[in-house]
Amino acid sequence: MPKPDIRDLTRPELEAALAALGEKPSHAAAVFGAVYRRGQASLGALEGVPPRTRAALAGAFSMPAFSPVEKTVSSRDGTKKLLLRFAGGAPAECVVLPGKGRLSACLSSQSGCACGCSFCATGRLGLLRSLRPSEITAQFAACLREAGALSSVVFMGMGEPFLNWENVKKAISILSDDRGYHFSQGKMTVSTVGIIPVIKELAAGELKVKLAVSLVASDEALRARLVPMDAKYPLREVVRAVRDYCRARQAQVFFEYILFDGRNDSAADAAKLLELIKGISCRVNLIPQNTAGAAASQAGAARAKDFQKRLIAAGVRTYLRLEKGGDISAACGQLAAGN
Ligand code: SF4
Repeated sequence: MPKPDIRDLTRPELEAALAALGEKPSHAAAVFGAVYRRGQASLGALEGVPPRTRAALAGAFSMPAFSPVEKTVSSRDGTKKLLLRFAGGAPAECVVLPGKGRLSACLSSQSGCACGCSFCATGRLGLLRSLRPSEITAQFAACLREAGALSSVVFMGMGEPFLNWENVKKAISILSDDRGYHFSQGKMTVSTVGIIPVIKELAAGELKVKLAVSLVASDEALRARLVPMDAKYPLREVVRAVRDYCRARQAQVFFEYILFDGRNDSAADAAKLLELIKGISCRVNLIPQNTAGAAASQAGAARAKDFQKRLIAAGVRTYLRLEKGGDISAACGQLAAGN
């Protein structure tokens, strides 16, 4: 049996592991500092950790080097897409996205995705496997190296984060740990297609991360066609869970609505969306559909603007997302490991 990777452990888990090895749990802070702050790569030589503890850790755990970034593709707008490959050849893409004077990292939670949303290139890959916490934090580290500094992190890359929630939670814990990367949970957003039990868990839990929910469409029949997961978690029930979440957390949610040219971008569709999300503290991100290579029609672009105006007129904060990284397939629904 290969030894477990120490970077899959949160600090409380590492403290428990140290206690089980007969070592002081408090050394976990020094281990985290050496691994995440100073990037030390050898368990037997971690600075600030007593030699006996280092030897005990090296006997129980591993810390194999990750393969270097396999491919980096840069877009004209400054977006950079990085392809990493993990054990067993599992690909994962992460993206550095430029904004107004800021850089965000978009991370993958799974290699591929089982959800099969019809508009999504990742969905067409199917699920190769879920990523381990260390494989998620390795993407953060790769984006950080590329960007120099990051303002926010979004879990909107390959995969449905709530279907790999235990590992995503651990990655969030390591990223936000003050002895780890010390990256505020308030600057992280987790995006879901609507896995209701986890939305409920977030409503009741301690995590401070923000929630984004991909409504995709406001028409129930259209959404059911585009998002297979809708059969298990129907649109209205998802929105009810979000309403409860916002109330319980006194928080705002981000709704993602994908504008499919001529299919769900009419005035009637805007009215339907407004009715659906009425009373919810939210911001709506309108995402023009990315059909890689095909430019949006002029009429579609005009309808997108009109759609946005209608939402704003109704008092809903609405952002029409300019497609970022479209020329390198790094935009929403386009991550497909170089395919
Ligand atoms: S849109 Fe998200 S949930 Fe749907 S297939 Fe793509 S990655 Fe999976």
